[in-house]
Amino acid sequence: MLRLIFSLLLCWLPLSAIEHIKQYEIFTKQYQENDTLFLISRRFELSGVTFYLTTNTQTLQTKVRSLDPLKLMPLDENFSKTPFAKQLSAATSTYIKGGATQGITANDKAIYLSMDLCPSSKKGYESDFIEKLTKQNGKTPIAIALSSAWKEHHPKEFEALVKNPLLEITWINHTHTHFYDPKLPERKNFMLHQNTDTKTEILGLEKTLLEEGITPSVFFRFPGLVADEKLMRELRETYFLIPLGANAWIAKNEPIQKGSIILIHGNKNEPQGIAMMEKKLPEVLKTYRFKPIQEAFVQ
Ligand SMILES: [Zn+2]
Repeated sequence: MLRLIFSLLLCWLPLSAIEHIKQYEIFTKQYQENDTLFLISRRFELSGVTFYLTTNTQTLQTKVRSLDPLKLMPLDENFSKTPFAKQLSAATSTYIKGGATQGITANDKAIYLSMDLCPSSKKGYESDFIEKLTKQNGKTPIAIALSSAWKEHHPKEFEALVKNPLLEITWINHTHTHFYDPKLPERKNFMLHQNTDTKTEILGLEKTLLEEGITPSVFFRFPGLVADEKLMRELRETYFLIPLGANAWIAKNEPIQKGSIILIHGNKNEPQGIAMMEKKLPEVLKTYRFKPIQEAFVQ
């Protein structure tokens, strides 16, 4: 048991075969380590040990850690001054496009690839595209927006993505169920549906990832990129997640520009976007480089 806990501290291992996470909850504190302020946003129990989901407020990298509770302090004005708090506040300031649509970095070659895995009845995923992409680009940073509902029906596909050594994946929260009803107008659809339980949608997906040994990132993508002011406020004040929109939704023919957050679908529901991306790829790679999504938000 001690050995298991010790190894968890070093590296977040797959847990599904071992034990389930208990009492997963919102828990907001900060702590200082050397020169860096860390945000704590969740707390849970595993094998009788308390773990915390932490975010480095400078690099936006997340990590699961076991910490001395006496060192955890309430958020104060030092937190508001961090790059993370500033980016969180900027990205949640308007709901129109579902969050941040491009990077703020000075690197004028950087672009950011994101791929959504909304629930789908289609078998497989866009594996041919991933193969072509990594053949041309080598190891590729990609932000994958996952819904638990897709993973549940695509366990093998999920595993293939996780184990692909040529992908450097940042896992984005795309909600637990990703509700969508084609008959409803947008203002009553997706997370704006009256029965949406925001907490279950957000924490549910995080638990899904953690139970696979994967640390959730600090990013969120609204299903359909549809949000409102209230949801944005909740992301900012309760969940501490940066919403990711996109300014280059490929299937909608939006051009890739400097700093673009690119959106494609990996669930086979939008093959035209994949075909267009494949066609563009050689030209895009002459000018731009795919970068990890965290780098879009640190200068
Ligand atoms: Zn979606």
